[in-house]
Amino acid sequence: MKPGLLDILACPICKHYPLVLRIFKWETKEDLFKQVIELHSTKNRAELKDILKVERVKGQKMDAIETKLIEGKLMVADEVVRGEHDLKSFLELLNQKEETVNFIHDATDRSKDIIQIIKTTSFPIFKDTLQKSSEKPDQDMFSSLELDLYFLTWFFLRTEIEEGLMFCEKCKRWYPIDETIPQMLPDGLRDQAREQDFLKKWQKKIPEEILKKGNPFHL
Ligand SMILES: [Zn+2]
Repeated sequence: MKPGLLDILACPICKHYPLVLRIFKWETKEDLFKQVIELHSTKNRAELKDILKVERVKGQKMDAIETKLIEGKLMVADEVVRGEHDLKSFLELLNQKEETVNFIHDATDRSKDIIQIIKTTSFPIFKDTLQKSSEKPDQDMFSSLELDLYFLTWFFLRTEIEEGLMFCEKCKRWYPIDETIPQMLPDGLRDQAREQDFLKKWQKKIPEEILKKGNPFHL
């Protein structure tokens, strides 16, 4: 599961949003985390942009973020906000994603630095750009946040969680992420023995609230 999926998932039972995400194991290689942090710290926008490219059509790599000018207005289409928006609307929607980041906890420490940079550098830049969005041409404003937008997009949508869980703070249900797949089944379809094994396997990384009192199963 990609961390950015948290942005669109509510508890399937009580509909509470957002869920809390806890990461126990990454599928994404450690070297790649280091490389991306390095590219951000050296402000290597071109290479970060390149890493994010996806092959939507065979043999044709597409940019993760696309911009175009329509009657002097910059339109932005990307994967985090989704859809196409003028710069001001895009920034308003982008800033709402900060809440999602606050609900992600990395118990492996591998992406701890990335989450910290996103909180202390990227979102302050996004907020500042929104405040000043009418001061300069759209293109200049967009350039000032492009590096951090690539950085956030990489973390949200190019990394893969191998094992972890999601927790609903309202109905206290937890949902395992197993072999990269979030398992969000109704209580009656869940396998108690298998899930208690999962809790045992990761018990050092799971808070007591889930371990001892979580629904529908705990230890
Ligand atoms: Zn719930």
